[in-house]
Amino acid sequence: MSLHDPHHYVRRVVLPSGKTIEVVYFEDQQLASATPVAATPAPSQDDVSDLHVCGSCSSTLVYPTEWEEAGTTHWEVTLRCPNCEWVGTGIFEQDLVERFDEELDRGTEALVRDLKRLAHANMEDEIERFTTALTEDHIVPEDF
Ligand SMILES: [Zn+2]
Repeated sequence: MSLHDPHHYVRRVVLPSGKTIEVVYFEDQQLASATPVAATPAPSQDDVSDLHVCGSCSSTLVYPTEWEEAGTTHWEVTLRCPNCEWVGTGIFEQDLVERFDEELDRGTEALVRDLKRLAHANMEDEIERFTTALTEDHIVPEDF
């Protein structure tokens, strides 16, 4: 859960190189386990389905720019869609916000996996170049 930090949703990710970057990431593909929106009408919340789905353009990249507690069971969340620039604020039930948070967590985990793969691939590439340079005598003791 990341609800403890309501005003800064940005995640810090430490890369294998030791660098820290800040990321905001959203799941852009339907997960196999995702429940089709049409199959889960939420009559109590008129028209609100999953918060990561844009009500304006149906993009699944919507993310929170701000959220704060609104009573004990609700959250006031400001959302932004990076696809169509839609911005809106609403008050949502705890359950819905938790589901949204899990969705964002999944996105963050996917990004970290990608970053690690990428960093690993870059490292292999560099080692390969270094090895090639060594074996072809492009690196000589004078270089050090
Ligand atoms: Zn949108």
